[in-house]
Amino acid sequence: MGSKTGIAAVDLFKDRKPGDWLYCTHCQRAYKAGEYREFQGFQLCPYAGCSGDTVLNAWAWERVRGIHPEYPEEPERDVVYPL
Ligand SMILES: [Zn+2]
Repeated sequence: MGSKTGIAAVDLFKDRKPGDWLYCTHCQRAYKAGEYREFQGFQLCPYAGCSGDTVLNAWAWERVRGIHPEYPEEPERDVVYPL
């Protein structure tokens, strides 16, 4: 009888630090960890008009670069980086 009920988002993303780049798989743009638009209790992608979630639809930028090593270490804001 453990008290663990699964992997919490905080555990999954404990390596995310404010200032790290995240990548929204919805709009395929990068933003800094800790940025979001709050909507009805959800933390959405900070880009206006995007309904991506900062938890479910966010990848670490490093993961994107694992697929596209030609992408810069520091992504530019508001630039679409196709997967
Ligand atoms: Zn987005």
